[in-house]
Amino acid sequence: MFQKKGPIRRLLGYVAPYTHLLFLGLLSTALASILNLAIYWIVKELVDKVLTGGDVVAMGNMLNITVIGVIVLFIVKGIFSYGQVYFMAYVGHRVVADLREQLYGHLQCMPIEYHDSKHTGEMISGVTNDVAVLQTTVSSGLAELVSQAVMSAGILGLMFYLDWKLSLVTLSIMPFVIWVVGKAGSRLRRITGLIQSTIADVTTVLQETLSGIKVIKAFTMEAHEMERFRRRNEGNFQASMRGAKVHALITPVIELLSVLGLAGVLWFGARRVIGGRLTVGEFMAFLGAAGTLPTPLARLSVSYGGFNQALGAALRVFNLLDEAPEVDEPEDAIPLPEPVEGRVDFDSVSFAYRPSEPVLHDIELTVMPGEVVALVGPSGAGKTTIANLIPRFYQPTSGKVYIDGFDISKVTLPSLRSQIGLVPQETVLFSVSISENIRYGSPHADMEDIVNAAKLANAHDFIMELPMQYDTPVGERGVTLSGGQRQRIAIARAILRDPKILILDEATSSLDSESEAEVQEALSRLFCNRTTLVIAHRLSTVQMADRILVIDKGRIIESGTHKELMAAGGLYARLVSLGFHDDSQSGQGGTEAVTDL
Ligand code: ADP
Repeated sequence: MFQKKGPIRRLLGYVAPYTHLLFLGLLSTALASILNLAIYWIVKELVDKVLTGGDVVAMGNMLNITVIGVIVLFIVKGIFSYGQVYFMAYVGHRVVADLREQLYGHLQCMPIEYHDSKHTGEMISGVTNDVAVLQTTVSSGLAELVSQAVMSAGILGLMFYLDWKLSLVTLSIMPFVIWVVGKAGSRLRRITGLIQSTIADVTTVLQETLSGIKVIKAFTMEAHEMERFRRRNEGNFQASMRGAKVHALITPVIELLSVLGLAGVLWFGARRVIGGRLTVGEFMAFLGAAGTLPTPLARLSVSYGGFNQALGAALRVFNLLDEAPEVDEPEDAIPLPEPVEGRVDFDSVSFAYRPSEPVLHDIELTVMPGEVVALVGPSGAGKTTIANLIPRFYQPTSGKVYIDGFDISKVTLPSLRSQIGLVPQETVLFSVSISENIRYGSPHADMEDIVNAAKLANAHDFIMELPMQYDTPVGERGVTLSGGQRQRIAIARAILRDPKILILDEATSSLDSESEAEVQEALSRLFCNRTTLVIAHRLSTVQMADRILVIDKGRIIESGTHKELMAAGGLYARLVSLGFHDDSQSGQGGTEAVTDL
């Protein structure tokens, strides 16, 4: 029933480096299982040679030897059991750590389009749940499969050795058992796929709602979200219970079948003892062995179900791994010379996220080295899209983007991106210290550089007031910083990286006038000596620009300075007369304002 060879073979590829440990694990497993069986042999010897023997002294000696034998036997078995768990767990955990690392690396390499379209929850579930299922299978599942298989084979061997006819009677129930196991296995496989996809649903809602909690509260959608979560959670519960029912049924059904077989054995076996064709000891050992047979068989079927579960998980993990990584670079991609001057050209660039919906039309644009260009225009006009084409997060549908005259589709991605600084609207702070956050992307910077950058970004003073200054942890478990403080950390980060080309998506969160002045001052230092493209939302930022481009419906419709554009009386003048947008509710989880600028 293991028809999906692909994932198994691939999974074995991950196990391959640890074959020697796996071998030790399996050997320990097999030996422990065989030693477990020896007890039945001892029962036979005890009954036939000790209890029914004649000489009392000899009987006493045999009894002593037998009892000591049992103790030694189980000590040795204990050692092998330890080896079984240790080696198998080692291989399982190692494989999982390797796989998880590869998966994470792969997700990092996936293009932005991929992350746009994938639910984060699905990816998280892949890296955590699915990989964890594989771990259980590789370590305990495999050991269980081997030990129960060895146990089953050993018990069967012993039974046939003792009395093959009686064994055949016992095994007449086998076809039924196999049928039940097969049915349960295929059903479990289906249900497990369902369970995994429902838990991914739960994770997706959780991820979305926790990261957008402010929006939920602001729109008083708590009850709605609660209901959405409840439904998905319930879906997972239902799926899990379907799995549990199958699990719960397997063992009793198999045991019932086994008991029927056992009844036949009692009847047939006792007659053979009476007829003198079987000793009492042999019959007792046979009964003991046959009586235990259902347990390893049932456990074999459960671990078989586990393997089916792992197959589903392996398929999902490998599907994730098989998705094509980052935008292909041509074979002959050259590195962009470092440092660039910073000239950016758009030559008749059009772009569409989806083929039927063009977003940019024939953009012609030249930004000279050191120039500060502000992009303004209604929300959805295409400003972010223009900015995203420069670090090649997306490729133009037609036309070309050049940096210093180099076609960026022909240069290597690291050489391109290492020269571009990106300050997104929402500052992303990682759960490390303030200094590590500023150093992000500039690994060689020392403390002095960090402090200088923070000073230029007007962040130094507030950082010094934090409990552990530059060592204060931020992010989920650290201090909470205000919007303006976060922006200044982002600016310090960009100053430290000192890119020749800067793309800044100005934060729309409202600042008090003092913070705004500090942020604007920091920005003016950041813009110094580099080509800057800023998606601007504040008049003060626009006024810092050498040139303003007004974007509407994917086209540049006006271009000039604030004065020129005001005098022209076009869309820009209208937007200004409407007032700069009031961000009292935007910037709180990504809701775009209706009008930018
Ligand atoms: P702006 O930055 O001016 O607000 P954007 O460049 O973000 O505008 O968006 C331009 C258009 O492209 C909008 O209609 C938006 O809905 C669409 N868009 C933006 N990002 C994506 C995406 N990842 N997938 C599909 N459509 C997108």
